[in-house]
Amino acid sequence: MKLHRSALRLALIYWICASLWVVFSDQLLFKLFGTTERMLLWHSAKGLAFVLVTSALLYALLNLYFSRMSLQHSARRANEASLRQAAAVFDSTLEGVLVTDTEQRIVHVNRAFQRITGYEEKEVMGKVPSMFQSGRHDDAFYQVMWKSLNQRGEWSGEIWNRRKSGEIFPIWQNLRAIHDENGELSHYVAVFSDITAIKRSQNELDHLAHHDPLTSLPNRLLFIERVESALKRIFADKRGGAVMVVDLDHFKHINESLGHNIGDQLLKGVAERLRGLLEDGMTLARMGGDEFALIYEDCPHVEQAAALATRILEEIKAPFSLGGHELFTGASIGISLYPGDARTVQQLLRNADSALFKAKSSGREGYAFYTQELTAYAHQRVELAASLRHALEGGQLRVYYQPVLRLSDGHIVGVEALVRWQHPERGLISPGEFIPIAEESGLIGTIDAWVLEESCRQMRCWVEQGRELEFVAVNISSRVFNRGDLPDRIVETLEKTGLEPARLELEVTESAIMHDPDGALDQLVRLRVLGVRLSIDDFGTGYSSLLRLKRLPVHKLKIDQGFVAGLPDESEDMAITRAVIALAGSLGLKVLAEGIETPEQAAFLLEHHCDLGQGYWFGRPVPAEKLDWRDRPPASQA
Ligand code: C2E
Ligand code: MG
Ligand code: MG
Repeated sequence: MKLHRSALRLALIYWICASLWVVFSDQLLFKLFGTTERMLLWHSAKGLAFVLVTSALLYALLNLYFSRMSLQHSARRANEASLRQAAAVFDSTLEGVLVTDTEQRIVHVNRAFQRITGYEEKEVMGKVPSMFQSGRHDDAFYQVMWKSLNQRGEWSGEIWNRRKSGEIFPIWQNLRAIHDENGELSHYVAVFSDITAIKRSQNELDHLAHHDPLTSLPNRLLFIERVESALKRIFADKRGGAVMVVDLDHFKHINESLGHNIGDQLLKGVAERLRGLLEDGMTLARMGGDEFALIYEDCPHVEQAAALATRILEEIKAPFSLGGHELFTGASIGISLYPGDARTVQQLLRNADSALFKAKSSGREGYAFYTQELTAYAHQRVELAASLRHALEGGQLRVYYQPVLRLSDGHIVGVEALVRWQHPERGLISPGEFIPIAEESGLIGTIDAWVLEESCRQMRCWVEQGRELEFVAVNISSRVFNRGDLPDRIVETLEKTGLEPARLELEVTESAIMHDPDGALDQLVRLRVLGVRLSIDDFGTGYSSLLRLKRLPVHKLKIDQGFVAGLPDESEDMAITRAVIALAGSLGLKVLAEGIETPEQAAFLLEHHCDLGQGYWFGRPVPAEKLDWRDRPPASQA
């Protein structure tokens, strides 16, 4: 029971007054009346007065007590009524309500909570709300939420939770911290509504705002956004791309002669076909009317853009059957490259439009780049790719051989096989021009296989003729090397041509190895087991790590001709050349310098103990029958 200080104080005063009254009133009566009968009468009167005063006091106190009691009673009844109302509101509200204690254990949930989350009350009581987390938000998100809740007493925002079924869904949630009359934290209350439907319609609105209703392709607005973000990314990626504007030729005629319905169906058909060409990093949009646009984000080469434009034109050229008609249409394409042509969206689109104008005015059904030179270059490359296919079938490829010499005595120890294309109109085309095209179009596998077989057969002939030749070196493209089936192809070719494995040397560029060093190591080990020789071509250009180099089972390093060109004057080239020779020596590898054009270069290399050399100074690549087999003067006498 609680002690009230003021009540205690009043009781004390009463006790003192009453005691004084009892003690002094009797003495006074005695003094006034002695022990007479009157005194007895006054004594009784005094006692009665005391009882009267005490009764009055008691009455006043009881009165106060009962009126308080009745006030409290009616307050409690009112309170109970409002609690009942609150509970009814809680239960009938559409918003979910969840109450936890200070330890975040759930102490109350309403019916809407059960409907929204799918959990029964008994399944969540005593549990913590983190059981509903969707995993969509990181720790930082929850930290911000708790900070606001603890500092301001509330938080509201959008949050993704998980239903009992596992489905994740968005809610709008208000969180509040509840304190008792003493200001102590007592509960947390969460009131939330399921906003799945709102989100869905928001997404639908967003889709409508950013897409063309006829073809469902992105519209101009979204396309511009995509181009903007692609332009931002190139500063990080350093890879360029292309923006293409595709415009149907004579679409107006179709619309006018066959009606808008057929026109619409044609646009849909075109969109469908173009969609089929899309790869990662491409966005196709309908810009309006019969104009489509495409951004090709990872397109650093002109040829790639030209190849895609050609595919688009071919797709559109094939007939459409619409409403019982067989329709033929064509398109023109304008291409603008970034960052070369432009660095802003507006400029890119303007350039693509002006390229489109060029394409249209040069006879339609074609593509044009923003600059004339690029258009010509691209056309030439595409033509070259097409005729390269015929070159293979038509026997237009040749293998030339360049001698490799021992620098100390000028003796020819091997030859490198270098492919050439004997073009019927353009004459001899160098591999530098057509190998990249072959790599892009996938023809490289066939070319390398052909060169390999041809070189092995030729080497077998030389061996049979008694030539003292140690090896024939064949270049292997990085594409072929990274495909992984090279050892099998080599075994087949050696069996077919009857060449000893030790007479064949495979040249793989340093960058092909560095593309996937672990895969390369595995492949080189398998090749070495076959007994063929291995050399790293263009060494010094591919950033090999020394650690990696040590583990590679190769026989030879070929110093890139870029370094040899600067000998014997350029100090950097001299330093690199010396370093590569020393490195090869310490790893027990042979070293060959390619691109030797002057006797000074040869002398420098010999002086620094380079084993082998190759270059115009000793002999250009020539057909097999034109090889000059005589020893050259030793490099020191050159
Ligand atoms: P590579 O393997 O580094 O070949 C050396 C290149 O340097 C050859 O060019 C050769 O003709 C040239 N060269 C030789 N001596 C000199 C010289 O003294 N001065 C100068 N400036 N150049 C010299 P080519 O034949 O045009 O071949 C270029 C590249 O094409 C080759 O570089 C090789 O990577 C590739 N290649 C050639 N044939 C084939 C092949 O059959 N398959 C594959 N995948 N690539 C090949
Ligand atoms: Mg080579
Ligand atoms: Mg080379």
